[in-house]
Amino acid sequence: MAGKDYYGTLGVPKNAPDKDIKAAYRKLARKYHPDVNPGDKAAEARFKLINEAYEVLADADKRKKYDQFGSDADQAEAYARAQQQARQQAGGYGRTQGGGAPFTTYEPGDMGDLNEVFENLFRGFGATAGAGTRTGGRRPARRGQDIEHPIELSLEEAFNGTVRVMELHSEQPCTACQGTGRLKNAVCSQCRGAGRVIKPRRLEVKIPAGVKDGSRVRVAGEGNPGVGGANGDLYLVIKVAPHPMFKREGDDLLVDVPVPLSTAVLGGEIQVPTLKGNKLALKLPAETQNGKIFRLAKQGMPRLNDTNRGDMLARMTVVLPTNLNDKERALFEQFKKMRPN
Ligand SMILES: [Zn+2]
Repeated sequence: MAGKDYYGTLGVPKNAPDKDIKAAYRKLARKYHPDVNPGDKAAEARFKLINEAYEVLADADKRKKYDQFGSDADQAEAYARAQQQARQQAGGYGRTQGGGAPFTTYEPGDMGDLNEVFENLFRGFGATAGAGTRTGGRRPARRGQDIEHPIELSLEEAFNGTVRVMELHSEQPCTACQGTGRLKNAVCSQCRGAGRVIKPRRLEVKIPAGVKDGSRVRVAGEGNPGVGGANGDLYLVIKVAPHPMFKREGDDLLVDVPVPLSTAVLGGEIQVPTLKGNKLALKLPAETQNGKIFRLAKQGMPRLNDTNRGDMLARMTVVLPTNLNDKERALFEQFKKMRPN
């Protein structure tokens, strides 16, 4: 991509010594490192650009070439084409020393009208340094990048659905330079030539009931802005925290229900808790074994985009009596005599 401002990216002047470049790189790389900004695509893009800039500016040869011709092969090509075009148009222009290879040296002061040819070419390339929007040239519409953002929910929130207000850091076109990266022929100081800036913004998002751990919820149009194209989408990556009582098994919910020994043996009614906070009465048959699971239909998790629900799996946990008094102990002894095994 032509016209990238590597000095601007690193925030150093063009004559910065190597050690300043290195220091600036280290500082920025730490700030935008993906480990520090998990899921933040804008930071990731910035991190890549910082690395790209450093790779060039830290290398004496590459830096020299960059200083002369710009960021990469596109510009070498543009330069070669500009030379050719200039020769065709005006004879004498496009003077090179040493015979036509794109990386021969020239003095910027010699450029004359060739500069204009350059400008025009860059508009065609949709360069950030150029004025593509001014000429309305051939700059292709580009859809904005999708971004991902993690969201942690409680199981109750996943059960009921919820609304979250999030603080996102996303790419916005730079308002100072209208996204061109340049102001009055200098690098825009607001975005340092990137044409885009990272800005915080608040967004209210609705999380539908029934989302699962690992679900991706798409929020259309809330990704990074496009350039002449549609905005990207925001994807919320859902993490559902484990619940101390309820275990999710697909759309079903498993819960351990304590049952007094006498109720398990004789049968009776117990209360099964739910995620709504209320309790459901469950009639136990006599001689219900420890660990038996009763299925309560449609009392589990809601299903995404569906009116159906999973089931509640109530697992019986028989609780043995403790602190027996003399009379109770006598009864157990009596029972043991009747049922020695
Ligand atoms: Zn700007």
